[in-house]
Amino acid sequence: MRIFATLRSRLIAMVAALLAVIIGSVAIISTRVAHYEIRKFDLEVHAGRAPRAPVAIGQYYRAHGSWAGVQPVIDQATRSGESDVIVFDGQRKFVGTSNAILRDAQLTPDGGLLIERRSAAGRTRELIRGPQMIVRDDKGNIAGSIFILPRQSKTPELPPTRSLDRSFFLTFLGATIFGVLMAMAIARWISVPVERLTAAARRMESGDLAVRVEPAGGAELAELARGFNAMAAALDRNEEQRRRMVSDVAHELRAPLTNIRCELESMQDGLTSPTPERIASLHEETMHLAHLVDDLQDLALAEAGRLEIDAQPVTVAALARRAAAGMEMRARERSVTLHCEGSDDVIVLADAHRAVQILTNLLANAVAHMEKPGEVRIAWEQNGSEAIIRVIDSGTGIPADEIPRIFERFYRVDVSRSRATGGAGLGLPIVRQLVAAHGGRVWAESVVGAGSVFSFTLPLAG
Ligand code: ADP
Repeated sequence: MRIFATLRSRLIAMVAALLAVIIGSVAIISTRVAHYEIRKFDLEVHAGRAPRAPVAIGQYYRAHGSWAGVQPVIDQATRSGESDVIVFDGQRKFVGTSNAILRDAQLTPDGGLLIERRSAAGRTRELIRGPQMIVRDDKGNIAGSIFILPRQSKTPELPPTRSLDRSFFLTFLGATIFGVLMAMAIARWISVPVERLTAAARRMESGDLAVRVEPAGGAELAELARGFNAMAAALDRNEEQRRRMVSDVAHELRAPLTNIRCELESMQDGLTSPTPERIASLHEETMHLAHLVDDLQDLALAEAGRLEIDAQPVTVAALARRAAAGMEMRARERSVTLHCEGSDDVIVLADAHRAVQILTNLLANAVAHMEKPGEVRIAWEQNGSEAIIRVIDSGTGIPADEIPRIFERFYRVDVSRSRATGGAGLGLPIVRQLVAAHGGRVWAESVVGAGSVFSFTLPLAG
């Protein structure tokens, strides 16, 4: 149904229906009980106090053989009693009553008494059965019937059961209205936070990633709001990272491209000639660009979890020697010697190509940050179910407050030195992704001026 399309209307309907059923059944049950109690009370009063009056009236009929002139007897007989009586003759015609208010009472064909009252509150009819006394003539025919009722008030008013019904009805109505108001308040209480969340989601959809909602509306909805805020914060962060990444990539590509363009343009203009050295320099810039693009691609694949890792058992010694051999030339240029220290028996489960890439990146950094001739060591050991591999240098070191950030993309501690060594700040983020892809961890320890130790773990084979 359309009117129950919203959460709020459904809640209102639910609570109102529930309240109506509960209050309704309580009202019905208590009305029944009250009516029963009142009838019981009436009969008790009757049985105890009234019999004398109808007997006297019956005797009058038997003495006179007619109801004519019975009214004073009725008045006399009921003067002291707590009951009223109504007398009908054998033809069900009204004969007399102790109370003028009962003058319109009628005897129904099935022997019930129908009392009609008119009051300011309206007309009411009440059907009463028994107690009554049947008066018979000498031949045993029914000569009349005398109804006994609790003493009625002289002024018209609603009978007790009627006023009870009315007060129950009013209570029911009041409670229902109160229930509906409560239901509306509860529904509002629940639906407002949901509406707020919806509005926030819409704003986010239209690009406002700074939007947050206040956790409210009970534990579950507050948790939902907190989840929403966390999601919004993550999206905001991702968007910020994406923006920074695009601008960082553009920045990294611009420098080598500008160099290449300037060289080529000056050659075109005949300002410089394409000597082998210039061509070699152009080649180097191009290689740098290619390297950067490769790094970016590796990083993108790793971050998307799509890097293929072909893990095979391999000794750490073999990996270390391969990486050291690849770095040999660069190390010699800086008068740095490379040492491998560790057992030949440590076998890890790793993708050899990727593991060598990890070590190469760490070695390249270590060699680049050696200020004086010295040595860079690759050391490894077994530790539980993993191997810990360390690349140790005695270079510049890294300030303690920078260490947490060096694994971020494009982050460089010393930008000018890093550029001079061709680094774009992608080496360590790639290391971190590759190590994670193997199920390992990586961390750095460093003392400025004394050197750095980069450690990572790989799972042992078998
Ligand atoms: P880059 O390509 O610039 O080397 P990395 O991600 O590999 O980028 O490293 C990030 C930064 O961490 C470097 O710019 C450098 O400042 C610092 N760093 C990395 N390794 C070392 C090291 N062994 N000694 C000193 N600083 C280092």
